[in-house]
Amino acid sequence: MIDPRSPDRAVLARAGALIRAGRLVAFPTETVYGLGANALDAEAVSRIFDAKGRADDDPLIVHLAAVEQVADVARDVPTSARALGAAFWPGPLTIVLPKRSNVPDRVTAGLPSVAVRVPDHPIAFGLLDAAGLPIAAPSANLFTRISPTTAQHVVDDLGERVDLILDGGPTSHGIESTVVDASGGSVRLLRPGAVPAEEIARVLAALESPVPLEHGLSARSASPGLMKKHYAPSARVLFFSGPAEVAREALRAAGERELAQGHRIGLLICDEDAASLDALGAAIFERLGPCADLPEIASRLYAGLRTLDAAGVDVICVREFGPAGLGLAILDRLTRAANHHVIHVR
Ligand code: AMP
Ligand code: MG
Repeated sequence: MIDPRSPDRAVLARAGALIRAGRLVAFPTETVYGLGANALDAEAVSRIFDAKGRADDDPLIVHLAAVEQVADVARDVPTSARALGAAFWPGPLTIVLPKRSNVPDRVTAGLPSVAVRVPDHPIAFGLLDAAGLPIAAPSANLFTRISPTTAQHVVDDLGERVDLILDGGPTSHGIESTVVDASGGSVRLLRPGAVPAEEIARVLAALESPVPLEHGLSARSASPGLMKKHYAPSARVLFFSGPAEVAREALRAAGERELAQGHRIGLLICDEDAASLDALGAAIFERLGPCADLPEIASRLYAGLRTLDAAGVDVICVREFGPAGLGLAILDRLTRAANHHVIHVR
């Protein structure tokens, strides 16, 4: 365990040397734990794909120590991207830009664009600084499984496949970065994440020539990595989407049915939901925090899914927490966890 407030320089120097030698280092960021390698070394980057079992057509995010380094890996940085970088970096926003030729195709899955971000975490910064290189890093989990929010999650998934794991304690956001594509003339939301879409739209609207934030995947940005099943636990997930009251009631009814069928069930719920779900006393309750506290819910979501999975439940019942702010990213991840079998109620 490294103290994030004053990371041990000797450890960071060793980690940086491993990156320079083409090895893999798992490290905490403010979003989730990343599995890092030298972004400019195709062979090192291949090790990431091997360790995770990641599909070759799923591009990686390149992490940088400072905003000024964007020009080292990307060209033609539009005004919109500059404004977003100024507003949110260091922080949990990833921007897709036209790539420079020094970035190997292995990193971008052959795309002409590269996804970049400057993480806001002292250990991530210390590692990038010690390595003196851009670091390509996806989440440090097995492919299609739940992203890790603690070092133990990384050990559980990847163990010996990683050369070094930097343990900085639980990550603060607990959900991946927001990804926007600014590689064309427009700005498009590719993946909702830790920076709410509303905040991004606000920055773009305040530009001298305002730019709208487009939603939904276009042909250009049909992001190869955004496959359907992702962030999935082993248990079946029943995900109820709709207004809180109705979704909670549907969740209770489904929970009773599952229990009656002899299934072991896990409930991933916010605090105030617990009272109305008393009838499901035989279930395992995993609380995510106050229902109105979306940052708290997001930060505990993945650990909650992993805990219920580890408890060996057959079914995980969970409801949506609204489409606003971080709710959109939570909704996206739960939709994937449920393999898109969302139960809509109204
Ligand atoms: P992960 O590192 O697992 O959180 O995933 C990173 C995601 O960023 C990928 O799965 C893609 O969806 C997206 N991404 C990375 N690079 C690009 C790119 N050049 N163009 C579009 N999307 C990208
Ligand atoms: Mg991932």
